Amino acid sequence: MKAGIERVLESPAERIEPLAAMAATLFRPMGVDGVLARTPLYESVVEGLSSLISRLREPGTEILRFPPVMSRRDLEKSGYLKSFPNLLGCVCALHGTEAEIRGAADCDETGGDWTDSVTPADLVLTPAACYPLYPLAAAAGPVPEAGLSFDVACDCFRHEPSRHLDRLQSFRMREYVCIGSAQQVMEFRERWIARGRQLAGELGLTRAIMPASDPFFGRTGQVMAVSQLQQSLKFELLVPVRSSEEPTACMSFNYHRDHFAMIWGLRGAAGEVVHTGCVAFGLDRLALAMFATHGLNVEHWPALVRAALRHAA
Ligand code: AMP
Ligand code: ZN
Repeated sequence: MKAGIERVLESPAERIEPLAAMAATLFRPMGVDGVLARTPLYESVVEGLSSLISRLREPGTEILRFPPVMSRRDLEKSGYLKSFPNLLGCVCALHGTEAEIRGAADCDETGGDWTDSVTPADLVLTPAACYPLYPLAAAAGPVPEAGLSFDVACDCFRHEPSRHLDRLQSFRMREYVCIGSAQQVMEFRERWIARGRQLAGELGLTRAIMPASDPFFGRTGQVMAVSQLQQSLKFELLVPVRSSEEPTACMSFNYHRDHFAMIWGLRGAAGEVVHTGCVAFGLDRLALAMFATHGLNVEHWPALVRAALRHAA
């Protein structure tokens, strides 16, 4: 599989910068693996990428920006606990009377553990930018015949602590989402696979688009992953970031069939269950891929790449 990936990589770049050497220029540590403060140099590239992705937005697309938390109930209903319970972060808080809260908080100073007293709030940390969208779309009424198209973004959390700069616990995700007939969603995904490949080319990135599966939890998860691959439900755009042998998924192209529509009662005008799909851009991974490919000196990046990133939104 890995040799296969290497063979199909379309390669304008010749070498990859060692990431560790770049970390100090792009980030400041925040004391927890996978959580980083970002420097202006790094952010300027993230902003350039965001604008570039905005310029590709299809007409008639509704824009929504989500906070980093969402309804715990909604995420439970989405089936997240079946698929990725290990990745989920839940917001907890001190509940109770003033005396109870004061007592719990003060035990911190006496060597106790205040977190023994926390209980879950009705919020979780949003794990992907499109999860909060489906209940909103369902509440807006039947899906029109032409389908619906959304542009969403969110600071996402996944509990996968790692020292690798391309595997963060807190990262930015931008998505385009299509809700409509199976054919509309499949065509949407085809268009975005082509656009994603072209976008990465304009950015001077070595890339390959490969069938993929999500990291479903546990033994039953392996069966789900095989089924997802067999049905070609997920593709990823891979770019060498840490190494060419193990390229990093910087975009994903997902077809959910009627999974979210069934859960949320998303229906067309004639009452038929609709389908959904999304294309997700990992903004932090894409930015890192840019530095790994072109180096730290943005002024020396190829002129066409700089032009692609600088163009105003
Ligand atoms: P997924 O929903 O897993 O397909 O994720 C969508 C995109 O988010 C991926 O293609 C990555 O670019 C990005 N992403 C996912 N997990 C992480 C992570 N732990 N750190 C940074 N970016 C991530
Ligand atoms: Zn999505």
